[in-house]
This record gives sequence, structure tokens and C-alpha cells, in this order.
Amino acid sequence: MLNDLLVIGTGISGLTFAIKAAEQNPKLNITIISKGNISEGNTRYAQGGIAVVRNLQDDSIEKHIQDTIIAGDGECDSRVVKFVVEEANSRLNELINWGAEFDMNKEKLDLGIEGGHSEKRIVHYKDQTGKQIQDVLSTKIKSFPNINLLENHTLVDLITDHHSIEKKGRCYGAYVISQEKEEIIKICSKITVLSTGGAGSLYAHTTNPSTATGDGLGAAYRAKVRMDHLAYVQFHPTALKNKVNENVFLITEAVRGAGGILLNSKRERFMLKIDRRAELASRDIVARSIHKQIQEQTQDYVWLDGSKISIDVWKSNFPTIYRTCISQGIILPKDLIPVVPAAHYFCGGIKVNEHSESELKGLYAVGECSYTGLHGANRLASNSLLEALVFSHRAAMHSIDALKKPLPGQHFYNSLPPWNGEGYSKSDTLSDVKKLRIELQKNMTQHVGIFKTHEGLNLAEDQINKIYIKVSKLYNKKKLTYGLSELRNMVSVSYLLIKQAQQIKKNRGVFYIQNYDKEFYKTLQKST
Ligand SMILES: Cc1cc2nc3c(=O)[nH]c(=O)nc-3n(C[C@H](O)[C@H](O)[C@H](O)COP(=O)(O)OP(=O)(O)OC[C@H]3O[C@@H](n4cnc5c(N)ncnc54)[C@H](O)[C@@H]3O)c2cc1C
Repeated sequence: MLNDLLVIGTGISGLTFAIKAAEQNPKLNITIISKGNISEGNTRYAQGGIAVVRNLQDDSIEKHIQDTIIAGDGECDSRVVKFVVEEANSRLNELINWGAEFDMNKEKLDLGIEGGHSEKRIVHYKDQTGKQIQDVLSTKIKSFPNINLLENHTLVDLITDHHSIEKKGRCYGAYVISQEKEEIIKICSKITVLSTGGAGSLYAHTTNPSTATGDGLGAAYRAKVRMDHLAYVQFHPTALKNKVNENVFLITEAVRGAGGILLNSKRERFMLKIDRRAELASRDIVARSIHKQIQEQTQDYVWLDGSKISIDVWKSNFPTIYRTCISQGIILPKDLIPVVPAAHYFCGGIKVNEHSESELKGLYAVGECSYTGLHGANRLASNSLLEALVFSHRAAMHSIDALKKPLPGQHFYNSLPPWNGEGYSKSDTLSDVKKLRIELQKNMTQHVGIFKTHEGLNLAEDQINKIYIKVSKLYNKKKLTYGLSELRNMVSVSYLLIKQAQQIKKNRGVFYIQNYDKEFYKTLQKST
């Protein structure tokens, strides 16, 4: 069956897009797929909230615009920033009408503050804002008879002219692993939407789930779709360091907003000397400062001191963090929390216009896998859920109009070939895949992390090329497995990220090459 819309990914962006499109036109055939179950993606882990100007007494649209542009460090598209901030209230109201609940303060939404925001404007639900949104959207999507939801279906490659005899310069759908059928199937669609999220798993420490392997970016790279700002990877300053393994758990910025402070191994509050906003400076500054402290002390983490936050606030506002800390023997509020920076958010992605259209006709990208121009060189906290809401709405409206124009017919889609590779194997026991994945993560963490150097980037490129050759051999010899498919994408995205990093001539936002300006170093050295 030919789909009108194929949506790849079931986080906030994919689900919102599909719901909007189905509401607008109940006759559309829509298929939406996720590689695991519907809820597994970055969205459900979002803690802090959504940035929306609600209190017009103290706050203003202009202030939110300014905060976003300051965080983006000269790289934001101011036109995009303006419409995203202006459209925020309408999109949030829709989410509330669909059943999402947020914390209230008397009759009004309770507003929090996070790093880089000049006013309180973070709409939240305890420390489970993402889960709240994911649950509401996951329930709603199942109420539409014209939406076909396929869980455990993994994008392998986009179908483009590369696969077609007739060249129409479009995207025609995707080749997808069906875990259920244990084969790679062809899903044809007039319009395809990538909403596959970020790629935190390129790094050893990440706040993202392990499924965040940049699959949409990898497929777009192979389809020669333009990507932008990939080298701007945001590291969250405060992830709880696990004593037992490499896993980390995010401690939302809102904890610092509520009074949490950072201490080095000597228990000194170092952020005061670095930025007038101290712990609430933008994420890039706080993450680099922590990283630097860690390099200069023997302890491989710093402390987050939340003792000024009352136990009632811990329990009511941060219940998940409170429970997670207790499970690791950290009793709040009295105990200090060991924290490290961790790869958190991909500011860059598939280059899209104001309707979320990529440069390949028939292909849209929404959410974290896209680059809209909102975040520039650094995302302002809680602006990404907002971006996903605004752009999935715009993409849905635009694609409904695009479907009214003349498009290739069923006959053309029938002529597209089935998957021509070796096929799919359920067995994921290829130990080489696991080893190579760890090798790639180590390489990216060591050379393409918070502090980069030209020499490190060159070394990283060599390493990735070696991994690429090994992965290609596996790919050509063996049947495709889920793990190999992920690894193939991780290699593609790492390579492109490194190549883009090598082109950047100035440190901005989250991007920092030590060979360039030493200003930040000087500030840090003065402070220690
Ligand atoms: C711990 C944490 C806390 C955060 N806190 C906040 C916050 O407070 N405020 C804020 O604004 N932002 C926050 N963010 C960022 C924000 O959550 C994400 O940017 C946003 O949720 C991304 O939504 P998305 O729909 O683009 O992608 P995701 O929610 O990541 O969804 C991606 C989807 O794509 C699917 N997928 C991936 N690859 C494939 C494939 N090959 N085939 C099929 N499907 C595939 C996945 O299964 C998933 O359904 C946080 C992120 C994390 C990790």
C-alpha cells in the first residue's frame, strides 16, 4: 500500500506531526514506525520542561528571543527564533487540550528557571515532563484509525533516486527492518518524515538512551541530504556519576535553578569566579568549567550540593532524581551528589527550512534530528521540546498542502525495487559490532568531546576511517543485524561530525577547539 505519509520516530516530534496531520485530514494513510516500543526515545527522559513565556508581567517574548540568541552565540537564525517563541503558547495550549498536565501554582502554571533564562518560564511536570508528554501523545496516536503504528521497525535507508530507474529527485519512503517479519521491507510513501532524535550514543557518557544512535542522520547522509551544525554537541553539565558502571543519569538544571551549587574536590564553589550567573550560566560554560576542574583535580567528578533545597521540594519537584540518588546511597538533601558532564543534545542535524522541509523533495525532518536555526551554536535549556512542537505543527500543515500537488503515482512506487542487500538476521551476537561500538565511543569521547584540538580531530578521523573499513566488511559479508545497522549510522554521523568540526574556524557556543582562543582557559586559570 502506498502511504501518504511515513513518519519515522515516535517521540514528541513524530507523534505530534502524525496527530496533527491525521486531525487535519482523516483520509490520509499514515504509517508511523519506531525502532523499539513507542515510548523509547529522548522525549520520555526530558526532566526540566518546555520554555514558554506565560507571565507577561515580568517576562516578554522579546526576553525569550534575546536569551535564545545569546545562548546560540551568534549562530541563531533570528527569524526562526522569533516565530518559535511567538508560537510557543498556541502549541503548549494544544498539548494541554490533548490532556498533558503540568505543575500548577494556584490557578496558573508553575514556572521554573534554568540556565541562560533571564526569567522564570519553564513549564514542567515534576521532573517527568517528557514522560508526561510522551504518555499523552502515545495514547492519543492510537485513537486514529488512519494511523498505522508499527513498533520494532527500524529504518535502514531512505528510498531515493539511487534506487530508482526514473529520476524524480525525491524521497520515496524507506527500507525498514521488521523485527516481526524478520526481514527488510519496503515502505513507500509520498512524503517521508524523519523524527529519529539525536545521537548521544556516539559518546561513552550520555544522558540519552542507548537507542540514540543517529539513525535518521546516517540514512540522510547516505541519501546525500545536507546536514548542518553537526559538530555542535551539547554536553549537559550535571549527570549523576554511577559508582559501579559508565551509566549516567541526568540531574536537571532546575535543581541548580532551585538553589543547587557546584563544588570542586576542595569543596570550593568555583562557578562564582567564572560567570556572574554562576551555576546558572549557559550549559556550555558550566560543562567546560566542570570538565576543567576534573582535569585539574584527582577526583573524576565534581559535587552538586543540594542541601539548600528542602526535602519537601526534592520529593515534590524532583521525585525521580530523589529516588535515583537514594538507590545509589545518596541521601538528599544532606549528601553531596557526584556529577560529570555527559553528551546530551545534538544542536545540529538535517538542514530544514521554516516548514521543516529538507533539501531533498518529499523528505521532512523534525525535532532533534533537524537543524532549524533555532539553537545556533548552543541550545537554550528547554527550547528543544518547544522546537519539536512548533516545527512538527508547521511540517504537518505544509505537507498536507504538498500532498495536493501532482506527485508520482502508485505505478511508479511499484517499480521501486525491494531491499537488495543480504537481508536481515535476528541474531545480534556479532561480538565485533559491540567491540567496534565501544571503540567508536572511546574515540569520540577522547578527541571530539567538550575540549577538542586540531590534532585530536585528525586522530579521530583516522580512527573512524579504520572502523568504517571494518564495518563495511561486516556489512558486505553478513546479513544486516539491528546492532550493525546502528553501528553503520554511528560511523557515518561521527565521520561527518568530525569533518564539519575540522571546518569550523572559531569557537562558539558548545564548540570549543583549544588551539583557538585561550580566553576561556585564562578565565578558568585565574579562578583556580
Ligand atoms: C535526559 C534528557 C533530558 C532532557 N530534558 C529536556 C528538557 O527538560 N527540555 C527540553 O526541551 N528538552 C530536553 N531534552 C531534549 C529533548 O528531550 C529531545 O531533544 C526531544 O525529546 C527529542 O524529541 P524527538 O521527537 O526529536 O526525538 P526522540 O524523542 O528521541 O524520538 C526519537 C524516535 O525515533 C525513533 N527512531 C530512532 N531511530 C530509528 C530507526 N532507525 N528506525 C525507526 N525509528 C527510529 C525512536 O524509536 C524514537 O521513537 C532532554 C533530553 C534528555 C536525553
